[in-house]
Amino acid sequence: MSLPTLADLRELGGARVLLRLDLNVPVKDGAVQDATRIEASLPTLRWLLERVSVVAACSHLGDAKGKPDPALSLAPVAAVLERALDRPVRFVADCLDPEAGKAASGSLLLLENLRFHKGEKANDPEFARQLAAPFSHYVNDAFGAAHRAHASVAAAAALFAPGRKAAGLLMGTEVAALYRMVHEPEQPYVAVVGGAKISTKTAPLAALLERVELLLIGGGMANTMLLAQGREVGRSLVEREMLETASAVLRRAAERGVRVELPTDVVVADAIASPTRVEVVAADAVPADMMIVDIGPATQERFAAAIAGARTVFWNGPMGVFETAEFAAGTMAVARALAASKAFTVVGGGESVMAVHRAGVAGAIGHVSTGGGASLEFITGKALPAIAALEA
Ligand code: ADP
Ligand code: MG
Repeated sequence: MSLPTLADLRELGGARVLLRLDLNVPVKDGAVQDATRIEASLPTLRWLLERVSVVAACSHLGDAKGKPDPALSLAPVAAVLERALDRPVRFVADCLDPEAGKAASGSLLLLENLRFHKGEKANDPEFARQLAAPFSHYVNDAFGAAHRAHASVAAAAALFAPGRKAAGLLMGTEVAALYRMVHEPEQPYVAVVGGAKISTKTAPLAALLERVELLLIGGGMANTMLLAQGREVGRSLVEREMLETASAVLRRAAERGVRVELPTDVVVADAIASPTRVEVVAADAVPADMMIVDIGPATQERFAAAIAGARTVFWNGPMGVFETAEFAAGTMAVARALAASKAFTVVGGGESVMAVHRAGVAGAIGHVSTGGGASLEFITGKALPAIAALEA
């Protein structure tokens, strides 16, 4: 791993730093609804503010279409940052404003939403050049955006020389944990994969198959695997066009000697919203008019025992429709099993991370990735554009 960290930065006295953060927070009527990502950015901000002359933070927010959109302004974030850091934050209404570089020593700036310019998502070299021009150094702490080749994380980062660019503290922690899963997993390595659809996870599944000893599959994805094995799954969520992919996963696992465990019992319901019938049935006895909504208690126990015996565990994707309390038991059982395990445990994925928080066990997990899509891409072993640009 050759990712430069903050300690690798040189000539910091008088430095003007462009700091890419993930400040993509929910905003409603001009107020930040959830400040988790802002709070997560504070350690790197504080580290820089103690050592450099000017920090200009930048981020995207929402899916702005390459032109200004007041509803997607980062201005409300400036107010939250001011309070959290107890110092003034100068909001710069255009991320390309060249005045940003002329701010007085000791200034903290927040640049407006990068996606107000088309060049950001296009990874446009000219946009990157203008964004980077006022600054001597570059720090990227936006792991959640690391898998996208966008200008602020890719083309702009490439413009800075070694010693003048680095990963921030969050990015460093994310990469170290995920690197261990990809390159140095201690065996037995067990992956738990679930979530809605197999189609969104074929690449990470294939990559995990090459590294793990045991794959535990639950969630909607397991329905498609069960169907591929010739089981009837009633009205469950399935992806019929993915049956061949599901079979290929099972064949590759057999070739490699990787054990794959599917649910042997499942919770079925007649509806997800306001169900009138909820039952536990064997996985080969799903009634035609019911749908699978969770793994059953015997499967929970089997999965938990497998997790307890592991040295490394990666988990992505809930075991059932955990947003509904009645269908959350399987997902909560897996969350608790990871928390109780002595293994090095990593959880990645939007809903999976929510589930870990809901189970109240986030503190007992080795690493809870904030990366969502980025962590799944990292697991495939592919070089992420933002990381490649920092390492170049
Ligand atoms: P993550 O964000 O952790 O990667 P996904 O986005 O792949 O996970 O999937 C999460 C969603 O999968 C949850 O909203 C959950 O309700 C849904 N899900 C899990 N099991 C089932 C199931 N058996 N049927 C339908 N949806 C399911
Ligand atoms: Mg998701």
